[in-house]
Amino acid sequence: MAKTYNPYDNMLQVLESAAQKLGLKPSDYETLKFPERELKVSIPIRMDDGSIKVFEGYRVQHSSTLGPCKGGIRYHQEVDIDEVKALAAWMTFKCAVVNLPYGGAKGAVKVDPGKLSHAELERVTRRFTAAILPIIGPEKDIPAPDVNTNAEIMGWIMDTYSMLHGYAIPSVVTGKSIEIGGSLGRAEATGRGVSIVTQEILKYLGMPETGVKIAVQGLGNVGGISAKLLHENGHKIVAVSDVSGGLYNPAGLNVPALRAYIEKNRTLEGYSEPGARNITNGELIGCECDVLVPCALQNQITSANAASVQAKLIVEGANGPTAVDADEILSKKGITIVPDILANAGGVVVSYFEWVQNIQELTWEEDQINATLKKIMVRSFGQVLEIVKEHRVSFRVAAYMLAIGKLVRAKKIRGVFP
Ligand code: GLU
Repeated sequence: MAKTYNPYDNMLQVLESAAQKLGLKPSDYETLKFPERELKVSIPIRMDDGSIKVFEGYRVQHSSTLGPCKGGIRYHQEVDIDEVKALAAWMTFKCAVVNLPYGGAKGAVKVDPGKLSHAELERVTRRFTAAILPIIGPEKDIPAPDVNTNAEIMGWIMDTYSMLHGYAIPSVVTGKSIEIGGSLGRAEATGRGVSIVTQEILKYLGMPETGVKIAVQGLGNVGGISAKLLHENGHKIVAVSDVSGGLYNPAGLNVPALRAYIEKNRTLEGYSEPGARNITNGELIGCECDVLVPCALQNQITSANAASVQAKLIVEGANGPTAVDADEILSKKGITIVPDILANAGGVVVSYFEWVQNIQELTWEEDQINATLKKIMVRSFGQVLEIVKEHRVSFRVAAYMLAIGKLVRAKKIRGVFP
């Protein structure tokens, strides 16, 4: 039977190794093991056929030590509270790694959005927003898109929250459409961050900075944009996959054609091009390539398939794609991993820019946004790299050390209430 992985235990294990490397006392980081607040809600919806269905929703606030909680909302049929707790903690560490004045949170609705009509999706979103209303807000907790949620859904959240307060409050959510206070550059930000960090690590490892063979798992917002930008950087995207399956082309796939196809047909199913063959999601993990960029869900690389990985480098576009036991196998094979809390932080960085623009009621130019994003990603990568070199640890442990160090210092200054 396949081993089941609890992402929250995964997080705790890495937290423990990083805290030990930092020489922390247990009481220094005890609070980081527990989310500050967990809310579970029922979301009753009138379906299009007149029946009533009740979905389950969650919002977990892991830490508000460094500022308001921040993190996305995902819609997925298999989500559970441990996944949301882990994702919320990862947001805390991610915001600390890139030095944003934010804590971490995450939300989810246990639903397969593909099985809802557009009107049902809107009703789920509005009712979920109403249910978590007491704990969200521009100064408290600011949601954003995540797996299976998008700008349209963020717009419904913004509208519901605003209607219930009686005035427009764009700063309650990020990742909105530009027309209602979204930021230029936000839609591409996570993938842009992935591509910036990939270039940095290639340089550090002395690998070629163009023409590298890359496999991308997942073609949603993160995978799709990462593939596009890495392809534009002159790399060969040799493999891609989504829920419908995958494709492999040793000569490099036609990324623009593939993205245009998905734009029209939602999935890769039925797409073909000369030289490409169909592969499964599992085969993608072990395919012949230099760099593997998992941009789908957590626990995709586990002890069951880590030995098959041929890439020399893994850049984690998704949150938690590598299980802790896989980490060990990969490191023994000499594979470098740039961890999620660094590699995919570009999204929340530009979410922060969006929130700041909303609060200040002004807008920034796209080139200013992209340039500041790049500066932050390159600086954070450099800071993590310094820790890697100084303490001879993996990039994952180093990124946690950077984050936990900041959080523990801030906690000490704030003290324990009362
Ligand atoms: N869901 C994204 C993440 O996991 C973005 C979060 C945000 O922008 O608040 O980083």
